[in-house]
This record gives sequence, C-alpha cells and structure tokens, in this order.
Amino acid sequence: MAVIGFIGLGHMGGPMSANLVKAGHTVQGYDLVPAALSAAADSGVATVGSIVEAVSGADAVITMLPSGKHLLDAYDEVLPHAAEGALLIDSSTVDVADARAAHERARESGFGSIDAPVSGGTAGAEAGTLTFMVGGSETDFHRAEDVLEPMARKVIHCGGPGNGQVTKMCNNLILGASMIAVSEAFVLGERLGLSHEALYDVASISTGQCWALTTNCPVPDLVETSRANRDYEPGFAAALMLKDLNLALSAAEQSGTDASIGRLATDLYRRFNEEGGGGQDFGAIIKSIREHSGS
Ligand code: NAD
Repeated sequence: MAVIGFIGLGHMGGPMSANLVKAGHTVQGYDLVPAALSAAADSGVATVGSIVEAVSGADAVITMLPSGKHLLDAYDEVLPHAAEGALLIDSSTVDVADARAAHERARESGFGSIDAPVSGGTAGAEAGTLTFMVGGSETDFHRAEDVLEPMARKVIHCGGPGNGQVTKMCNNLILGASMIAVSEAFVLGERLGLSHEALYDVASISTGQCWALTTNCPVPDLVETSRANRDYEPGFAAALMLKDLNLALSAAEQSGTDASIGRLATDLYRRFNEEGGGGQDFGAIIKSIREHSGS
C-alpha cells in the first residue's frame, strides 16, 4: 500500500481521497478550506496543515484543483519538497499549456508525472467509477495504474504529456454541443406540437442517440438518471461546462482549428451563466433556449 499526498479535497478530491483510504492507502490530505479538511478527516484521510506536509514521504502526489494557475502555484511548493522518486498525478481539468508546463517542471525536478483529468462527475468520484484520461510516458502511466484503480472504472492512456487534457477537452466539446442540439430539438418539437415522449422514443433508438439524450436528458421524466428530474441539481454544473468549453476554444484558437460549433456552444453556455444558471446542471441550458425562442 502506498502513501499518497492529496492536494485539493473539494467536491471531487474529497470522495476520491476517501476511496483511496478505503483501498488501504495512507492519504495525507491538504486543502485551504477547513470544512473540506474536516470532511476528509471523517473519511479517514490524515489531514495536514500544508502542501509540504502532504507531500512529505509520499510515493505519489495527487492534485485536484480548480485551474492551471492553482496547479502551477501548488507545484512551487510540491516540487522542492516531494520525496525522491514520487510520481506526480494531476487530475484537475486545466489548460493544455499549463498541463505541459507542469510536466516540464516536474521533469526538471526529477519527478515522473502524468496529467489524468477525469470524467464521471461527483457521482463517479463517490462511487469510484471515474474515467481517467492519462497523458504522459508509458512508464509513468503504468506506475500510476495501481494508485488510480480504487477511484476508477477506466484508466486510458491517451498519449504523451498533456494528452489527457486534450482528450478531456475534446470529449466535453462533443458533450456541450450535443446537449445544446438535444435541447434545441426538444424546444423545436414543443413549439410544433410534438410530445417529449414521441421525440425521445424515436431519437433514442435512431441516429439522434447520444449521452445528452439517453443518460442526462434535458427534459424531465423520460430518463431515470437525468438531473432534469431533480430540478437540474448538478451533476455537472453549467459553470464547469463553460470552463471546459473555454479551454477547448482557446486550444482551438491556438492550434488554428476551425471550431465554429465549439465557439457557438461556448457563447450559449456563457449567456446561460450570465443569466444565473451556472450552479445548475448543464442540461438546464434548455431553459435558456426556451426563454430566447421567439413568440
Ligand atoms: P472544488 O472547488 O470543489 O475543489 C477544489 C478544491 O481545491 C477546493 O476545496 C479548494 O479549497 C482547493 N484548493 C485550491 N487551492 C488550493 C491550494 N493551494 N492548496 C490546497 N487546496 C487548494 O472543485 P471540484 O469540483 O472538486 O473540481 C476539481 C477539479 O476537477 C476542477 O479542475 C474541475 O474542473 C474538475 N472536474 C470537476 C468535476 C465536477 O463534476 N465537479 C468533474 C470533472 C472534473
């Protein structure tokens, strides 16, 4: 069993660290927020008062932080104090350039590292069924597998440094755009006298089938797992969808990719966030589409 330093015990990091404890690892956890620390202590995490203490003697260091800036700031303290031979695992969702900068700084300090962002949300974090998308060398990927296993349903190696973040961004570009398309289709159907049930019964077994329709349907009472049934309590919040679409859009601009749908999806999620929808599940975008449809 390993000693794992865990930095960032929030909505995702809290339950992820709890699953590592359940698997028998010793987890040294740190967060800036006292409430996050005490919740982690309740699930068996050995909570500490600094990053330096969290990484002390740890075989692996996991970061689960809000952004690339938080990650790189944390690395200012992680890199001088992590134990020799430690593997650095960043599971936050960050800009590809920041992820690659973190890899480079880890390499210069003599550490192996992977970027390993996740899909599956807080429910997946609690159930230990996250999908990890890993960027880094083959060697570091294989070293990380045992550490990630108690938190994961799937761990997939996506290529070299930063490619985990590239994969996450591309996946969420598909997800954001498809949720908007499904929502527009339901609103269009409503306005033309089509029942939600009829559209669902056909599209869910036809070429319109997708996760946004059949797992997180934006209208209630059609799919058991949908957050629409719980008044759009997230799930995956619209604010996080906007964050991920912004990352995708900036990567598209930097790489010269013609991502017109991505740009439009970002604009629509930005508008929904500005309208106060950021704390709702991203499927609640359907409300904004209804509101902006003409009479
Ligand atoms: P969160 O805000 O709940 O947790 C982040 C935690 O990091 C907070 O508790 C914060 O206090 C802590 N933190 C910030 N700076 C710190 C520092 N220097 N040292 C120690 N702790 C520090 O966010 P979350 O929902 O847990 O998301 C974490 C990451 O996972 C984000 O990058 C997010 O985009 C990604 N993600 C979230 C979800 C989701 O559904 N919530 C799904 C997939 C990926």
